[in-house]
Parts: sequence; C-alpha cells; structure tokens
Amino acid sequence: MHAFEWMSPQGIESAARAATTTVAAAMVSERGEPDDEAALLKAGGIDLLDLMKEGLLRPRRLINLRDIAGLERIEEVDGGLRIGPNVTLSQLAAHEQVRMRFRALAEAAGTSASPQIRHLATLGGNLLQRPRCWYLRSRAHHCTRKGGDTCFAFDGENQYHAIFDHKGCAIVHPSTCATALVAFDARLEITGPAGTRRGVSVEDFFLLPEADVHRENTLAAGEIVTAIWLPAPPETARSLHVKHCQTESFDWPLADAAVMLEVADGICRKAAIVLGAAAPAPHRARAAEAALTGQRLGEALIRTAARAALQGAAPLSKNGYKLVIFETLVRRALLAAAAS
Ligand SMILES: Cc1cc2nc3c(=O)[nH]c(=O)nc-3n(C[C@H](O)[C@H](O)[C@H](O)COP(=O)(O)OP(=O)(O)OC[C@H]3O[C@@H](n4cnc5c(N)ncnc54)[C@H](O)[C@@H]3O)c2cc1C
Repeated sequence: MHAFEWMSPQGIESAARAATTTVAAAMVSERGEPDDEAALLKAGGIDLLDLMKEGLLRPRRLINLRDIAGLERIEEVDGGLRIGPNVTLSQLAAHEQVRMRFRALAEAAGTSASPQIRHLATLGGNLLQRPRCWYLRSRAHHCTRKGGDTCFAFDGENQYHAIFDHKGCAIVHPSTCATALVAFDARLEITGPAGTRRGVSVEDFFLLPEADVHRENTLAAGEIVTAIWLPAPPETARSLHVKHCQTESFDWPLADAAVMLEVADGICRKAAIVLGAAAPAPHRARAAEAALTGQRLGEALIRTAARAALQGAAPLSKNGYKLVIFETLVRRALLAAAAS
C-alpha cells in the first residue's frame, strides 16, 4: 500500500482545516488516477483502507477523527437523541434508548457486517462509505462515478444494482443505517473549517446521479459530520428494519426496508417506508406511505401498500428478481409493525 502521513488532531476545526478534499472527489479524474496529494478524514478506516488497498485512493495524509473527544457519545436531548459520528455500529445496536425507541436503527446497525466490523465501524463512516459497485471498485473500469463516460452496469453484471432512479449510474446506496435514519426523519449536523455549522436532513444529504454523478452526498471538502440527530418519536410510533441477503453471512443486503408507523385506534396516522439497496440513495416509497396514511391497518391494505412500494421501479437486465423481494419485505415489515 502507498505510504501516507498520519495526523491525529484533538479538535474538530483543526481536522476540518487539514482535509483538502473528500474521498469521492479524490477518486475522480480524467484517466483513472486517484489524487495523490489528498489529505482525507478517517474514522474506523474500514472503507477508507479498503479503497487504499484496492489502489483506488492514494492519499498523502490521513486525518484520524477518533482522538476528538465528544464524537463518541449518545446523548438525550429534548426527548430525541444526539449521536456522535464516532459511535460504533455495535454501540448503537446495544444502546437501550436506541433499541426501545428507534428499533429499526438498532436492527439496521446490529445486523450489518460482522461483530468484528461493527465493533470498529462508526456511524459517520457508515453513512459516508462508498458504494459497493464492482465497476466503481475495479481499477480496470473508469466508470462515470470516477470521471469516465460509461456506467458499465447498464450492459454488464447488474444483478446487485439499482431498480429506481438510476439515470446515468446504477449504484445502490451502501449504508444500511441510512435506510433506517431516513425513516426517522433524522438530521445531520455538519461542521466546516471555520467552525460554521449547517443542518440537513439525512434524506436531503444524499444525492441521486442526476444531481451529481461523482458523489453520493453533499459533503464538501473540509466538512465533518459532527452529529446525527434523531427527533423524539411519538408514543404511538412503531418501527422495524428487515433485510434479505444472498447468504446467511455478513454482507451487504440484496434488499432491505425500514418502516415507521404512527398508529392510533388502529388508524395509521403517519407512515415512513424506506427501501435500501434499491436506488443510488435511500428510496422513500411515497406511494406506499400515501396508501396507508389515514387508513385502518389491515392485511388487504398492507398488501396494496407493499405493491405500491414498487411504483416507478425500472429493473435492469439482471435484477428484476429484486421486485418480488422488496414487495415481500415491505409486506412483512408492515404486518409486523402493525401487530407490535
Ligand atoms: C464484510 C463487510 C460487510 C459489511 N456489511 C455492511 C452492511 O451490511 N451494511 C452496511 O451499511 N455496511 C456494511 N459494511 C460497511 C461498513 O459498515 C463500513 O465500511 C463502515 O461503517 C465504515 O465506517 P468507518 O468508521 O470504518 O469509516 P471510514 O472507512 O473511516 O470512513 C468512511 C468514509 O467516511 C468519511 N468519514 C468518516 N467519518 C466522517 C465524519 N465524521 N465526517 C466526515 N467524513 C467522515 C471518511 O473520510 C471516508 O470517506 C460492511 C463492511 C464489510 C467489510
């Protein structure tokens, strides 16, 4: 692996000032050569070091975020939770408040990857990991996301790719936690080099290829995710995360779904249904949500909503099988959430 300098700042602003670019921007070039002057942020390092070992990144310097105090805490604020980006997936999955009130997030975090990886992988890094598309991760393929002019998935091996919103690039968003966070209307706090903060909903943070084919989110160079905010859920909220994997092993899901229902007297007051591994960003199944809202929950209605979750799907040559998986996952999740 390429040699690099190591920097371990104690403060957010000094870390932000040291970062010259983002990982996504460092991988974009005219001829497929990564930026070898880049100074990049590192949390657990699982995705970052993977990309470096694959020769897709060649940074001059890594900026370790793990010595910055305070980024590893989960705090209760105004009935909701403020989660530091350095909280690991295993801490998140084990946290009592997350398990009790944000069950879909605890399930998404607790069933991602393997116990060893969850022990090191941070929530911030999970949201910002790069997609698993084998063309993106192959040095032999200079795809659109890396500055080339072809998305090889369209005419290639697209069995794990997107069935929605894939104009120009067919990646699926890799973060399982993001699926659950969107269902809870979570927000990110992002801090820049001068200490200025901006807030953005997790849903709006992620970009579709139509908006920018070179990156998955709106993070700019020198910005650090400093908190993930979960607003207080109503007493009547019930949530669940379900997924389907190719094998019973530790791997990214072929399809996953997070549902959050607010139910009073058997009537669905609000529904959030989010599909993961379906699109280049977590995919909100709006037609399914609309089918449930204001209606009395029952099996027939849930079947209709699960079918509606596929509205707008445009499968590629080898991933039509995902349609039936998503319909089944959404139906199961809604039935379980309605019964809980
Ligand atoms: C075998 C295997 C199976 C996996 N299965 C799953 C799965 O099922 N679901 C799933 O979601 N993931 C899965 N993963 C991915 C894993 O969860 C992520 O790689 C990990 O969460 C990344 O976190 P990290 O702390 O190591 O991030 P890093 O590798 O350190 O960083 C990742 C990116 O985030 C940026 N970054 C990190 N923190 C911040 C911050 N606070 N502000 C700004 N930028 C930041 C870095 O610059 C980098 O671009 C799997 C990984 C493996 C190896």
